[in-house]
Amino acid sequence: MIRNKLVVLYGSQTGQSESIATDIHEDGVFRNYDIELFCLKDEGKLFNISEINCAVMVCSTTGDGDPPENARKFIRNLNRKTLPENHLSQLNYALLGLGDSNYSTFCGGPKKLEKSLKKCGAKSYYNSAFADDATDMEDVIEPWLDGLWPAVEKFFSNKKACMSKNEENETTVIESSAENDTNSENNVINFSGVTAAKIQSCNKSDAQSTKQLNDKEITLNSKDTNFNINLQEVSTKFLDMRICSTQVPLEQCLQKGSDELSNLDLSLPCTFPIYLEIEYLENQLPTSGSYQNGTKFPVASGEIIEAKIDNIRQLTSDDALKRTLEFTLISDKMFDFKPGDSFGICCENEDSEVEWLIKRLALEKSADIPAQLSISKNTPKKSVPAFIPLVFTIRQALKTCFEIRSVPKKPFLRALVECTSDPAENRRLQELVSKQGASEYAQHVREANVCILDILATFVSCQPSFCLLAQHLPRLMPRRYSIANSPLGVSNAIKFAFNVTRFDSHPSRTFTRNGVCTGMLEKIFDKKHQKGLDKTVRIFPTKSTGFCLPEDLSRPIVMIGPGTGVAPFVGFLEHRLALKPSGDFVLGESWLFTGCRHQDKDFLYKDTLEDFKSNGVLTHLKVAFSRDVTRPQPKYVQDSLKLCSHEMMKLILSSDAVFYICGDARNMAKDVRQCFIDMIAKCKICSDEEANAGFKKVVSAKRYLEDIWT
Ligand code: NAP
Repeated sequence: MIRNKLVVLYGSQTGQSESIATDIHEDGVFRNYDIELFCLKDEGKLFNISEINCAVMVCSTTGDGDPPENARKFIRNLNRKTLPENHLSQLNYALLGLGDSNYSTFCGGPKKLEKSLKKCGAKSYYNSAFADDATDMEDVIEPWLDGLWPAVEKFFSNKKACMSKNEENETTVIESSAENDTNSENNVINFSGVTAAKIQSCNKSDAQSTKQLNDKEITLNSKDTNFNINLQEVSTKFLDMRICSTQVPLEQCLQKGSDELSNLDLSLPCTFPIYLEIEYLENQLPTSGSYQNGTKFPVASGEIIEAKIDNIRQLTSDDALKRTLEFTLISDKMFDFKPGDSFGICCENEDSEVEWLIKRLALEKSADIPAQLSISKNTPKKSVPAFIPLVFTIRQALKTCFEIRSVPKKPFLRALVECTSDPAENRRLQELVSKQGASEYAQHVREANVCILDILATFVSCQPSFCLLAQHLPRLMPRRYSIANSPLGVSNAIKFAFNVTRFDSHPSRTFTRNGVCTGMLEKIFDKKHQKGLDKTVRIFPTKSTGFCLPEDLSRPIVMIGPGTGVAPFVGFLEHRLALKPSGDFVLGESWLFTGCRHQDKDFLYKDTLEDFKSNGVLTHLKVAFSRDVTRPQPKYVQDSLKLCSHEMMKLILSSDAVFYICGDARNMAKDVRQCFIDMIAKCKICSDEEANAGFKKVVSAKRYLEDIWT
């Protein structure tokens, strides 16, 4: 039986697609759609794709253009040669793809998915969009989401028209659709907080009429003759926004917008009711150490373990531009790893920020009482966010469950409008979520990287409940780091190095800050001499990306990693050193290109690398100093590569050498890739296109491997 309902499907590697799909599902629930949410890996178990009529799909990309692991089998199944061309002719889809143009194949995952869907006869009812992490994903995601619901609505309207035409001959049973429900005689939907918004009537017979709504909360009845509005159309119309990007003068800020905007009638998206309720349980203790429910994060390939901090050292001098720290963690239960693997750290929000939030939300009296969340009556939502423990305290939840530093999305700000009493502040928040204020939201919220702390510090009359925050704040995700040692050294220990992330000051941000995880680790470093300090961190292994040494150690390797990008190569070289005396094999030649700003301030692992060179596991060590006036050349790793272009071309064009690149994705990795293409063009005396094609062959042969970070 073909199901006449909306199904949201996702393929996700790090959880981002899953989170977008979950938001879409939630939005659909509140729009009264008959809607379900599944991961693509559950095809055949929880859902059957050949029974779905209307789908919304969100799929990301991993590695160099691969689909996420949990989407691969689904795509493979669709590519079976035995499937007929019309295998999915009943399926209509809308696809949002996520990718990063810093990698050589942009959005390869979702593009492969779409190709397979089309090959099986599926049709798209809404233009596919591909968001780019290298620029700003939201520039694509937000307009795509805005247009999604009108497209879904149109799809079901067309389908309904078609169905009623064929009604007499039709034998298929159609399950109830959202539209049928919304238009039923008794159906009433609450839209809260349409204050000061002008609703344009969407009734086709009365297209010009408008009505000013002044009530804080109104109830619209789809059969109201005085105000004859199709509720689905109202909500989709409010959300049908397009971003109009205009330059905003600098004197404006989060708190104050342009004069022009302050005089406009605003179109606001609708807001959905709070569906969570909190109950305090005076006599119970929080569950599972009050940490997040379930141990598995999307990127995890094993259980979380509590590792002891065995050693911490600073790798840079005190006057270096960035502070680099190295941690050594040990555990009897340490997971298996290879040099080049990475792992996840479960981080926690800063105590001072949590404390500030508790005070600001006036929750001092209840913050430490065990509590439980449940779903309010009369909402279509079925469950509380799965990552919140069954029994928790507000303090522990704010510390360990929620990403309180995340940029609030528009639905969150829209909900905050309802709890802001000061008229000027209320109006400004409305401006930021309105269609007319789209460019101000982009500049003062998204690009300024503000978080809920900044919003609450700026809009002092905004007084949201904990439940509102719990409904909108995303899950606190772990941070990933490269392992900088070999298991052949000490097998129950891992080392990693990182720069402490510092955010520059910005007029819209009230809070100065370090990165959540690097800030947490730096605090441990600063207090390392204090007695009784809890020196453990929660870590877990992540899925391997294939960034590892070749099995045949006689193959030449070229490692390129400026700054902390050198970390995995320290592990590679330690591994080669440990294997050297035991094998009857010859180690292939090895090159390491690294870089720093000043030889005497931030040359990471200087002594270790020089030792590797002197004992022969590293054949060539090339270091670039980007800001040493006494040694101005080579400045960057690519300048060092060019100085060795003859050797590099021999290795890339006529050997089976493996090239490894680790570090910054936005600039360095792109420039290094271009450097190789230029060197190939020069060496082979060919065009850029031909050189590019030659380079791509090396990439597809998995001889050019990247582990790059944005
Ligand atoms: P960094 O300190 O910012 O830079 C290292 C060197 O690279 C500096 O000399 C810098 O020069 C130079 N550089 C700047 N632009 C360059 C370009 N276009 N091409 C080549 N070199 C360039 O680097 P980092 O912060 O350590 O690491 C880079 C990135 O790798 C970070 O984003 C980091 O998060 C990521 N990473 C993370 C891990 C992890 O475990 N999480 C592991 C490895 C790398 P100037 O500043 O003088 O221009």
